[in-house]
Order: sequence, then structure tokens, then C-alpha cells
Amino acid sequence: LVQRGDFMHALEHDVKPAFGTQEEELDRYITGGIIDWGEPVQHIVQNGSLATRAARAEAEQSLDSGRPVALLLEGPPNSGKTALAVHIARQSGFSYVRLCTSKRMIGYSEVAKCQAIKQHFDDAHKAKQAVIILDGLEGLIDYSPVGPRYSNYVLQALRDLITAPLPKNRSLLLLGTTSCREALLELGLVQCFTAGKIHVSNLTNSDELLEALKKVDSAEFTKEELDRIKKETQNRHLNVGIKELLDVVRMTNRVEEMDRVRYFLDRLIEDGRLQE
Ligand code: ATP
Ligand code: MG
Repeated sequence: LVQRGDFMHALEHDVKPAFGTQEEELDRYITGGIIDWGEPVQHIVQNGSLATRAARAEAEQSLDSGRPVALLLEGPPNSGKTALAVHIARQSGFSYVRLCTSKRMIGYSEVAKCQAIKQHFDDAHKAKQAVIILDGLEGLIDYSPVGPRYSNYVLQALRDLITAPLPKNRSLLLLGTTSCREALLELGLVQCFTAGKIHVSNLTNSDELLEALKKVDSAEFTKEELDRIKKETQNRHLNVGIKELLDVVRMTNRVEEMDRVRYFLDRLIEDGRLQE
């Protein structure tokens, strides 16, 4: 027998609002946390809060309709663009946060894709303070360097949506991510991100690497092992994305019979991340 109490309990605990944050969904994009491995990370987070403040001011100051504040995070694959965008969105405290990615539009026609993207904007315009993450812009427009090809239809829709004025008293923060800056520049999409284009970089020296390794919860390196890694990586060319690094650390943790440090370094060398 279902009673009123059950109903109220369900409302309180089980029914997820259609609007508002989708905490659990967003969590999946940030499973490795945000490790502060150096100045570049702080720089991006700071730019994120500046953009958030600008979006807030847009609602407070403008007498008529304001504009969305659009910030682009661009950098190599695996550098942590999506996680940083989610982090900035979280930090904003805005009530409506949505992540828009082609990974959830597989098999969609161009028209369906545009409608799905537009729906995010329509919903965001209803919220007082909203963030939309346009994750992997090249994927959203189906960009392929071979040809090159892309969906002009989705491209136009994105450009119009990103630059459209807002209803009165609304704040909208747009966070785009891409690893194809050059291509998007040619297509005129980068230019829509008027609040700035920040570069998300890889870890490129042994200080940054050691800082990251010390701060990863799951890194089980001893002090001696860390010292060896430091010695072995100093003055050698390094270029590794945080996502890839975390994967290598995870693999290294499973190693038992072998020299763990050797295994760790070899994996980085094999992938061309560390100079031999
Ligand atoms: P892709 O090019 O495939 O889109 P990406 O650049 O978007 O990759 P993410 O998917 O964001 O990379 O992966 C970064 C991973 O590293 C996440 O699991 C995140 O939690 C973790 N991480 C740890 N520290 C940081 C950091 N300082 N910045 C970004 N991500 C971090
Ligand atoms: Mg990503």
C-alpha cells in the first residue's frame, strides 16, 4: 500500500528535478578531482571565477537584456578541459548547470542535434543563473580534419545561440571546450567566445609532474620512489596530459613484481610523453 508518507519521501529523496544541477551526471566528468599541479591550473580557475562574476554583473547592471559570458577552454586532448569546465561551473554556484556533448547525441541528425542544443539554451534562459558547458565543440559540429568536413547547419546554430541576447535579469555563463582551436578559428566559432580563450596545458616539467604525483590520492609512490622519478625526469622533455598521467598512475599501482618506477617511466616513454 502506498501512502502519502511514501509519496512525500519519494518527492524528497527520489524524484530528480528536471531543472537544476545534475550533480551525479557531472561527477562522472571529474572522477579524478582537480589536482593543483601548478600555476597553469590556478590561472584557469581564476579566469573561471572572473567570467562567473562577469555573468552575474550582466544581470545586475544592464537595464535591458544582457549577454551571455562565453569562455573557451582550448588545449590538447587529455589535458583536463572538460573537468576544468565542470569545476568552474560548480564553483559558480549557479543553480542550472548542463553539459552538452556529442557523446550523448550519437546517431542524431543535424536537425535533431540543433534541437537538442537549442533546448539547453531555452531552459537556461528560464533560469536566473545558468551555466552551459559546450563540451568538445568540434564534436558538436561533426568536424573532421579529413576533407575537412563539418556540419554548417549546427555551426550556424551554435554561433547564433552563443551570441543571442538574454531575457532581462538573467545570467548565462557559457564554457566551451575544444582541442581543435585552429579549425574552429577558421570557422569563426572561436570568435564567439568573447570573454576569453584560455589555454589548458599539459604538464611539461618534472616539478609539475612531482607536484601532481604528490597530490594524487591514489598514487602509492614512496618518498624514495618520488625522488627517483624526480631525478630521472629532470632535464628531459616531458609533455603529458593530466588524464593520461592519472591512467599511467592507476596502471602502475597494479604492478607488483616489477620495479614500479621503471614501469611508470617506460609507460610515459612508450606513449611519447617523456623523452628517452
Ligand atoms: P578530451 O581531450 O578527451 O576531451 P579532456 O581534456 O577533456 O579530455 P578530461 O576529460 O577533463 O580531459 O579529463 C581530466 C581528468 O583528470 C578528469 O578525470 C579530472 O578529474 C582529472 N584531473 C585531475 N586534476 C586535474 C586538473 N588540474 N585539471 C583537469 N583535470 C584534472
Ligand atoms: Mg573533454
